[in-house]
Amino acid sequence: MEVEGVVVNDTVSYAGGSTSQRACPICSRNLQVSYKDVLILDQFVSKKTGKILPRRVTGVCTKQHRQLEDCIDKAQKSGTCGTYLTSMVVNRIEL
Ligand SMILES: [Zn+2]
Repeated sequence: MEVEGVVVNDTVSYAGGSTSQRACPICSRNLQVSYKDVLILDQFVSKKTGKILPRRVTGVCTKQHRQLEDCIDKAQKSGTCGTYLTSMVVNRIEL
């Protein structure tokens, strides 16, 4: 599998403000995220549980959060985005 990354200069400021005042990181950049964008999707996935991070952490709007959930689910099922074992599952395997 080949993964290609493109560096883009970020002009959106995150300084100050609560979650409700921050701009959505996806909408403010006019991004169209698909399940193939594994480098973007990986930033919204918890390394511990393999599930999407809550909106209060990521700062995305409701619409993009639902879309990210679908994309992450699709990427994990297709094997392009990693799934992570919880410590409980790892402990069971070691027994
Ligand atoms: Zn948004």
